[in-house]
Amino acid sequence: KLTQSGNTCINGTYTNNGKSLKTLSDKSKELMKQRKGLPIYEVKKDLVNYLRKNETNILIGETGSGKTTQVPQFLHEEALLKNGSVVITQPRRVAAISVATRVAEEVGCNLGGLVGYSVRFEEMVSDKTRIKFATDGMVLREAMLDPLLKRYSWVVLDEAHERTINTDILFGIVKKAQRIRKEKGKEPLHILIMSATMNAEKFSSYFNDCPVLMAEGREHKLDINFTNEKQDDYVLSCLSTVVQIHQEAPVSDGILVFLTGQEEIDNACLAMSKIVKRMDSQNCLAMKICPLYASLPQHLQMDVFQAPPLKERRVIFSTNIAEASVTIPGIRYVVDSGKAKIRTFNPSTGFDVLKVRQISQAQAWQRAGRAGREANGTCYHTYTEAQFEKMTMMPSPEIHRSNLSTVVLQLLSVGVTDVMSFDFMDRPRQDSLLKAIEQLLLLEAVKKLPSGELQLTEDGRKMASFPIDPRYSKILLMGPKYKCTHEVLSIVSMLSGEQVLTTPSGKMRHVAVAKHKKLASVEGDHLTMLKIYQAFKASKQNKAWCHENFLNYRNLVYITSIRKQLSELCVKAGLEMLSSSDNMDDIRRCLLTGMFMNVAELQPDRKYLTLAHHDQAQIHPSSVLFNSHSSYVLYNEVIHTANSYMHCVSWVAPEWLYEVAPEYFRTHHIKANAAVYAKKK
Ligand code: ADP
Ligand code: MG
Repeated sequence: KLTQSGNTCINGTYTNNGKSLKTLSDKSKELMKQRKGLPIYEVKKDLVNYLRKNETNILIGETGSGKTTQVPQFLHEEALLKNGSVVITQPRRVAAISVATRVAEEVGCNLGGLVGYSVRFEEMVSDKTRIKFATDGMVLREAMLDPLLKRYSWVVLDEAHERTINTDILFGIVKKAQRIRKEKGKEPLHILIMSATMNAEKFSSYFNDCPVLMAEGREHKLDINFTNEKQDDYVLSCLSTVVQIHQEAPVSDGILVFLTGQEEIDNACLAMSKIVKRMDSQNCLAMKICPLYASLPQHLQMDVFQAPPLKERRVIFSTNIAEASVTIPGIRYVVDSGKAKIRTFNPSTGFDVLKVRQISQAQAWQRAGRAGREANGTCYHTYTEAQFEKMTMMPSPEIHRSNLSTVVLQLLSVGVTDVMSFDFMDRPRQDSLLKAIEQLLLLEAVKKLPSGELQLTEDGRKMASFPIDPRYSKILLMGPKYKCTHEVLSIVSMLSGEQVLTTPSGKMRHVAVAKHKKLASVEGDHLTMLKIYQAFKASKQNKAWCHENFLNYRNLVYITSIRKQLSELCVKAGLEMLSSSDNMDDIRRCLLTGMFMNVAELQPDRKYLTLAHHDQAQIHPSSVLFNSHSSYVLYNEVIHTANSYMHCVSWVAPEWLYEVAPEYFRTHHIKANAAVYAKKK
């Protein structure tokens, strides 16, 4: 039943409406029947009436009730889209692609027909597309060119509880677009905000006290379990829970385990496969173990959305990328560690810190919700109910814990000039905003008008048209000046792509290391990337060559496609496509134009101090410069784990610093080589 409420925050009641399915041979009939069994479908008429009546609505319904896949179809079927179309935002690309694929199947069209998707570096849409799933970042980019979002009559902000930066900006933008379209007497813009778990009161009050609709009931039962006692080692408890399930459940029941990051997941996969090997092979079923995280090549990510294997149990170890929105076929069990890796920006140091943190209750419900989508499911949280009760209700808005320079650039390019007073649902910290503005001023992407207002510069406007970090887009912009547009394009593409070096474990490891060494450049990691890209190109994108050299073929192909797109954007931005492949100095000078604030200086004690904040940092062991002692190095980022490591490092000459950013280095003096500075002046 559909109820309207003003102020409830619900987080799932786990009741069972007890519907079961019979298999029908006809696929489309079967899909239709599945659709009709969803709780949302039962309230379709009521829901459509509300949606027709109000310009803005909030819809809360339990995980699996059919919000994401059904509501966009309702809008289409009931002619609510009029002449426009609907875009549904998704917090992650796997979600956008997999959900679009499902809805296209239900509608009975090809992807890119009536139903399509749009994610960074990849789009499947056509003139026919009326229902489009997109990452929030992509919709934001569209808003840059068209702040009134004229091609849409509906914007659905899905999984709104996640509060990604992009979603938060979109809130302000769609709200404003709706108001202005109304004032100008244009076709109205309808807004729908959806989630299973959200602070409805807060959202409603932000969206001018719009109604909150609650679709009750769930199709399948979810059995929720907590541990009796606190666990010391969450990875271990996850593994032993999987073993238990594996011994008891039928082979077709898939298990989805939520851990925190790539390394932990790779290790857990390895440990799991060893455990299974040691288990009694007579009584033990085979197991197919799959990792799932954002830096995994896309085709491997999408593999888990295929039908599960028949004679093996599928166990997926995932980060929170599978936490919301998605339906993974065959998953009947979820094992939740209660942890996630969260990127946090520290405005006083400028560092991004990755830390394993406790998730929120909303995320725990979402995780549990990944089971019980196609049939009854079970979730094991590897922590106590008391611990659950102590978790915060909602994740903290990402905007409160991130580098905001991209955000500010985006705001400015969609016409928000007074960034400091933008209609944020939760205002970012003042110091973080100022820091971001400072970085953009340094990059000369923005300038301050005498009125104090910020204005995008010509460069800034160009930079905003690239879907990458402003530091990287600045480098591309400076390519022509240093006659190396092609080279920096390759490097930036490599930086935007996924890991290309593959390092096997065991005996082959040192063979791989030796091969990689051959590709290494003495200047550092950036030029090594260039060398690898060029060698790949020279091999004519040869798969066997990649294999021989322990390089990931797919990732390199993907990087090639990123490069192609960035290259098209360069041409659009009017950049001259020049090349100087033998001038390694100029390439690094060019890199410095975007990253001069990421320079560290070697100290007499052989440790590095960053110039920006005088923090200690070491070169990460994965760098080709590990164990080398250049006086000055450029780094991509410093990640604080137990130690502070600089990732992706190249050596630079001190005089370049003054050449590239004289203003900056007047205030951030380099110490050991003060003499150089004096000479240069
Ligand atoms: P919600 O957004 O409310 O969490 P969805 O609309 O994503 O729910 O999904 C509703 C239901 O549709 C799922 O519980 C599942 O039964 C079915 N479904 C969705 N996607 C798929 C898929 N890819 N494969 C099989 N069933 C799916
Ligand atoms: Mg959903």
